Amino acid sequence: MLTISGELMPQDIADHTCPYCQTRPIETIATLPYVRGNGLGADFNAKTISGCKTCVRKNLLLETLRSSVDGWASPAALLANPVMLAYGVARAGAVREAPERVDRMLDAAGIRNPRTEKDPVRIAYGLAAALIAADGKIEREEISTATKIGKQLFVDFDEQDFLSVVSAGRDLPTPEDLAIVLNSVVNEDTKQAVFKYLVAIAAADNEVVPEEQKLLKRIAGNLGISGPGHGVDHSV
Ligand SMILES: [Zn+2]
Repeated sequence: MLTISGELMPQDIADHTCPYCQTRPIETIATLPYVRGNGLGADFNAKTISGCKTCVRKNLLLETLRSSVDGWASPAALLANPVMLAYGVARAGAVREAPERVDRMLDAAGIRNPRTEKDPVRIAYGLAAALIAADGKIEREEISTATKIGKQLFVDFDEQDFLSVVSAGRDLPTPEDLAIVLNSVVNEDTKQAVFKYLVAIAAADNEVVPEEQKLLKRIAGNLGISGPGHGVDHSV
């Protein structure tokens, strides 16, 4: 499946390349729960990291390290964070190849079979779902907004198909990582159409906060979309 053999075309390998080193194939996916202090309470989130074993291990440790700095901002977080840190270090030590999970992720991202024509609407499902899951929370309102706009932009947008991709949200990589994987796989028209969709989702609540704007710009950059502002600025 993701093995590199003499029979594979370079394109097939590039299709599933680790977004971090961009050399080795995607071999595994890990979900890392983390906690951030929030006033007196704590926000529990999860981040999904996909890539080759080496990079996933490295990034699990980096994320865990980041938690050790950012994760102490409230009494509740103070209690939860040591548990999360222990989990992160243990998880990094337990990174193994996970072909089935990688398979499900590629499926959800709409890039399961490198040889078939990439369907723009499938790509849109994956990136939109990854965007919705990017903050570690999947909210009903975000899903219904993405569905409404999706139906306006894509004639063959199917609500049930989209929901099934959203339900795999925890298996999806971050939208930035997904964009790197998609960069070499989809054509310019698809990139533009799908990115327009992401901007519309972000703008749906009438404000694109600076954080969202930065995220959209990173996605555009990783997708390889050029042009001033990537259309992000016009939506503000
Ligand atoms: Zn790698």
